[in-house]
Amino acid sequence: MSVDTLTPILTDNWDVPEAWKIATYEAQGGYQAARKALGMTQADLITLVKDSGLRGRGGAGFPTGVKWSFIPQDNPNPKYLVINCDESEPGTCKDMPMLMATPHTLVEGAIIASYAVNAHHAFIYVRGEVLHVIRRLQKAVADAYAAGYLGKGVFGTDYDLDIVVHAGAGAYICGEETALLDSLEGRRGQPRLRPPFPAVAGLYASPTVVNNAESIASVPAIVRNGADWYKSMGTERSAGATIYSLSGHVKRPGQYEAPLGTTFRTLLDLAGGVRDGHQLKFFTPGGSSTPIFTPAQLDTALDYEGVSAAGSILGTKALQIFDETVSVVRATLRWVEFYKHESCGKCTPCREGSWWLVQTLRNLEAGKGHEGDVDKLLDVCDNVSMKSFCTLADGFVANVTSSVKFFRDEFEAGYHTPAWELFPYEKSVYF
Ligand code: NAD
Ligand code: SF4
Repeated sequence: MSVDTLTPILTDNWDVPEAWKIATYEAQGGYQAARKALGMTQADLITLVKDSGLRGRGGAGFPTGVKWSFIPQDNPNPKYLVINCDESEPGTCKDMPMLMATPHTLVEGAIIASYAVNAHHAFIYVRGEVLHVIRRLQKAVADAYAAGYLGKGVFGTDYDLDIVVHAGAGAYICGEETALLDSLEGRRGQPRLRPPFPAVAGLYASPTVVNNAESIASVPAIVRNGADWYKSMGTERSAGATIYSLSGHVKRPGQYEAPLGTTFRTLLDLAGGVRDGHQLKFFTPGGSSTPIFTPAQLDTALDYEGVSAAGSILGTKALQIFDETVSVVRATLRWVEFYKHESCGKCTPCREGSWWLVQTLRNLEAGKGHEGDVDKLLDVCDNVSMKSFCTLADGFVANVTSSVKFFRDEFEAGYHTPAWELFPYEKSVYF
């Protein structure tokens, strides 16, 4: 994995030996921001994060400080912070390397965020399969307790905070915030109806902030350097820097930290370009639940507004890159198979629609499709999109409709020719 950066903030210390240890983290200035934050008023802290322009890095881009300000302080119930580290989207792989490299950044961010919303319990929800990450986080939390940075009287103040690292059980849907809360409460993880949003009635029906791991880990640097510093990077409405994950047919796949608004062309150059002798065919701008792009979008600014104006979503900034050897029918099928497997089954359009899409795409991949199958795909998508309970369904519909939009002839070739004849099987990172 390569770690290359235009703006080293979150990734700054990834190459420092034993960066994950508390002593190393403190030697780099770690926990100074949390000490500073606990000397501020909660209102000032929330204003600082609001002013920085930090937006949620889990996909939706909701302003972090605004979300914190939604927590009703007059509600007598306890307040909770829940950190979403259930990273599972195909192509999305920014949080896990960050947690392995510098887990204390997350713990420090959690202290600041919990204090800001007056929470005394925080939960770090990690996908169950990544045992090595869970162990590293547990060690970081234990070391923070031993140092007096968690538990009773954080940093010698009268503020108490407990953090629990919770392992999920391997369901992609538990990355959806309300399914995550159900799972945390010990139930089967399925999305809840919103509103009420978690800010009003979240964990145990109490006010809860649910933030992505990268969002929380971005907070210590903002407290240390100020809102203007953070806003000086990125664009006017998409402030700051972020981690872009490049995977697939690039010479140096890995994590690339850069200001929001950096173009895909720049990131591709940083990653050494498409592998030798091949050309870019298509890519996802924000993970497999976002509409695909083609080389025509190489110069799109990868920020929330730029990507959306070009017809997709910035999502988790997971750029999956495919060259001309890849059948778009096969790639789309693999994605939809994932979503069919992960559909929680709560609502019919998603549960049944994903099954129908997989059957039709399998036929097209095998060259056994029927005239009209491509229109049938689009019709099924139309009956799923915006008619399902949560955004999982909109995600797989986005793959199919955008792939058909750009490569309809490849799908129609599936009426008579198998994809593996048009695109001879290639041992790539995907298939
Ligand atoms: P959303 O826009 O509905 O909500 C974003 C956040 O803002 C939520 O925390 C929500 O509670 C809060 N919010 C929104 N309106 C609010 C209001 N009026 N009052 C209080 N809080 C409010 O998006 P979402 O459904 O939570 O997330 C979808 C995103 O997740 C997609 O954009 C997708 O890219 C991303 N995603 C991420 C992964 C991953 O692995 N990280 C996987 C799949 C999808
Ligand atoms: Fe479950 Fe899919 Fe419905 Fe979401 S859209 S609630 S994942 S069945």
